[in-house]
This record gives sequence, structure tokens and C-alpha cells, in this order.
Amino acid sequence: MIDFHCHIDLYRNAKAIIEEADARGAYILAVTTTPKAWTGTKQLIGDRKRIRVALGLHPELVPDRHAEVPLLEHYLSETRYVGEIGLDGGSHMRGSFVLQERVLARILKACEADGKKIISLHSRRAANGVIDALLDSPKAGTPILHWFSGSVAELDRATSAGCWFSVGPVMLRSAKGRRLVELMPADRVLTETDAPFAKIQGKSLMPWDVQLAYSYLAKIWNRSEQEVASQLKCNLKALLADFD
Ligand code: MN
Repeated sequence: MIDFHCHIDLYRNAKAIIEEADARGAYILAVTTTPKAWTGTKQLIGDRKRIRVALGLHPELVPDRHAEVPLLEHYLSETRYVGEIGLDGGSHMRGSFVLQERVLARILKACEADGKKIISLHSRRAANGVIDALLDSPKAGTPILHWFSGSVAELDRATSAGCWFSVGPVMLRSAKGRRLVELMPADRVLTETDAPFAKIQGKSLMPWDVQLAYSYLAKIWNRSEQEVASQLKCNLKALLADFD
């Protein structure tokens, strides 16, 4: 199973959950929310074949943490994975939107300068802004829009811009989410949990709960869960093949 956007360092018992996820054979992209978390999260994960750490600066933390952009640039050459970065256009973030745009543009330019990255992006209420930023930095790497929740028109634009998508159980529980996934190119879809933030019935998802997404995808794609699993594995392989 593949959980390509998980804040695994933010569980209270992170060490035990990393052990269990690894033992279950999960492929995980452990995204981080601040450049200061990079070193600690790398140490926490240790040397594991199927778990990778991404260097991030979450847009909702940009107002408090934008001074850490140089630190992100400093660590950038150590990894090919960047995330979580992006834009949040929610009403609580309106005051920092211009700053968020500046930070995102600067990070994407740094990615271009360092060589292409695999980038997990937040785009809540700001899909067009994220796509604009990506089009301004076409050599930043391969963007993966996580938990995409924009309009169908924005989805079309993102697809044309070469974006990938990571989709999870909570998104797939909603009819709107399923409709969007239906319209995504199946060969550019990965699964995610966005745990521990993402919850079902008040309970944080675990990385292995990503399996819940497989049954939804089986219905949407009209395939067996086993075929879904092999499609997703194929997608992951294709994504990484560009970077070897
Ligand atoms: Mn997230």
C-alpha cells in the first residue's frame, strides 16, 4: 500500500507507528510542515527502504515560519522530495496570501535551481494560484496535488499542467471528492492519508488505513482492489523512474 502524504512525525507515538507501517510493507512519503522538522524527522525514520521524508513548509505556517525559507533552501540538495508546500486560500489565511505566494514561488525557483523534485502540494481554495506558480517554474519537478478539492475547471487545468494527484479515504467518502477522482487520469493518481490530521469519526487515520481508499478506487475505476493496487504501484514506479 502507498501513503504518499502522511505527517507521520506528528503522531504522539510516531516511533511505534513507523515501525508498524514499515512492517506492513507500506510505501510512505513522510511530509513535514517546517524546515526545522527536517533533521529530526529524518532521524526518526532512519534508514528504511520504503519510507521517504519530504522537506516542507506548510502554507498555514507561512505567517509564523517564513523566516525558515533559507533553511529549506539549505537542506534542499539533500532530498528529491519536497512537501508539504503550497497555498491556502481559506478565509483565515487571507491576510498572508501574498506572502504565501511569494514563499511558494521562491521554493519552486529553488527546486528548479537544484534539479527537479517530487513535490506534494496543498491547494485548498487556491488551486489556480498553485497551478500559476507551477507554470512559472516548469522545471521544479513533478507536482502532486494532495487532497485536491477545487473545481472541475481547476482540475482540468491542473491535469493539463502535468499535475499528479494523491487521494485519500476522507476525500473519497464525499461525493464531490469521488467525482473529482473520476476525472483524474488514473495513471497519475496515488493514495494518501494526510494523517494524523485526517480523521474518520473523530479518530486519526493510521498510515495503513490508506487501504480504505483502494475500495473506493475499485468502484470508480471499475476494477478489483488487486488491480487498483497494481495500478498504484505502477504509477509510483513511473513517478520514481524519472528521478533515478
Ligand atoms: Mn497535509
